[in-house]
Amino acid sequence: MQSKSYSMLDPFVDELPVISSHEHHLPDDLQKDMSLDKLLYHSYLSWYTDSGNSPKPYPDYRKKYHLPQDHPGNNTALGREIFLDQFGSNTYWVWLEKGIQAIYRLEGKISAENWDEISHKISDCYKDPVHHLRVLGETGRYLRAIQDSYWNYASDLGHPELFSPTLRTDMFIMSSHESILDADQNSPFTVYPDAPGNNFDDYLAFVRALFENWRNGGAVAMKCAVAYERLIQFNNASKKRAGEIFGKPVGQISAQDRLAYGDFMFNWFCALAKQLDLPFQIHTGLGDLSGSNPMLLVPAIERHPGTRFVLFHAGFPWQAKMAGIAHNYRNVIVDMVWVPLISTSAAITGLNTFLDVTTSDAIGWGGDTWTSEEAVGAALAWKHVVKTVLSERIDRGFLDLRQARNLAERLLFKNNAELYGFSPSGGNLTQAPPLI
Ligand SMILES: [Zn+2]
Repeated sequence: MQSKSYSMLDPFVDELPVISSHEHHLPDDLQKDMSLDKLLYHSYLSWYTDSGNSPKPYPDYRKKYHLPQDHPGNNTALGREIFLDQFGSNTYWVWLEKGIQAIYRLEGKISAENWDEISHKISDCYKDPVHHLRVLGETGRYLRAIQDSYWNYASDLGHPELFSPTLRTDMFIMSSHESILDADQNSPFTVYPDAPGNNFDDYLAFVRALFENWRNGGAVAMKCAVAYERLIQFNNASKKRAGEIFGKPVGQISAQDRLAYGDFMFNWFCALAKQLDLPFQIHTGLGDLSGSNPMLLVPAIERHPGTRFVLFHAGFPWQAKMAGIAHNYRNVIVDMVWVPLISTSAAITGLNTFLDVTTSDAIGWGGDTWTSEEAVGAALAWKHVVKTVLSERIDRGFLDLRQARNLAERLLFKNNAELYGFSPSGGNLTQAPPLI
């Protein structure tokens, strides 16, 4: 039974637009031939299986789970039934299904029986090449999204009216020679053949010019996701030490050298983010769990008080630790990107705690998705979290309705608009305003 305050907030929040701090939206050519099975392949559900191109931090026993299309035995109907049974309560599935229901106006649940019918409906709609963009604007109410194309740094997918790039730093932190690749198989020395490979000062000047040009071309943030491949404790390595490691092939540097080089480059990027006046988005939590606790980042946060750190994923599963960091440091923004999909209940707990300990302008959100169906689901999940938390606060006498509505606007689009320099006005995709 919904409370009266939930019912009063519900239509207001449903109508609000969203601005996402972070997406990996697939480029136009990968949006072709979409189907229900292809949506699953490009969703977080594939992270539990051997399918998809996602990081696989899981041990081999995960091999017992399959996307329906990969189910051994070629019994497609059985594969779908088993999949729905295994993942029915998983919130990646819950919100992907809700996204699909909203876009294709489905009444009931997705089942093994209606699977093909729904899949054909999806494929039909995707014959229109702008379907995926229209869905984001119209159903998802996405006003703008910050795009992280880790396969093509600084890309806006050719759609600057909707996407603004973030500037990924990973390959520059992880690769000091063309023989050393980051987790996405990138090295600056292969992606940019002009990058100076012999002189460290020349190389740093090259990277700085690259980032300045990208910023001047419309990029609104910098991003570091190396938590998937190294610990996020970044020590204060000297430029001299990094310069000695720079340019040496993989066999001539140790694991400690590689960490030290990354330490120097991360600190160098923190300083660059301040100089370019760009918020620095950092992946914390999940990833490589042995080294992604947000507390490990505290020395770097203290070392760079003038850099605005946007700490992604609220440090999940260390949200309480993230709350402590947000309480103590004014140069930290907690970004709940991805959390409502990972665990809707944890997102409710997390948002409550962050509202307790920080200011109304210091909480952000993003979808962190590859497809419009998952992006619509992510926006619905976040709206559900915001409505649940704010209406409970009204019921407890912590907020009145006017305050709750103002907060909802901040959490859904105004905070990200302020932080990344977008206009908060405007409606859906076709009315999206130019960057200011
Ligand atoms: Zn992401």
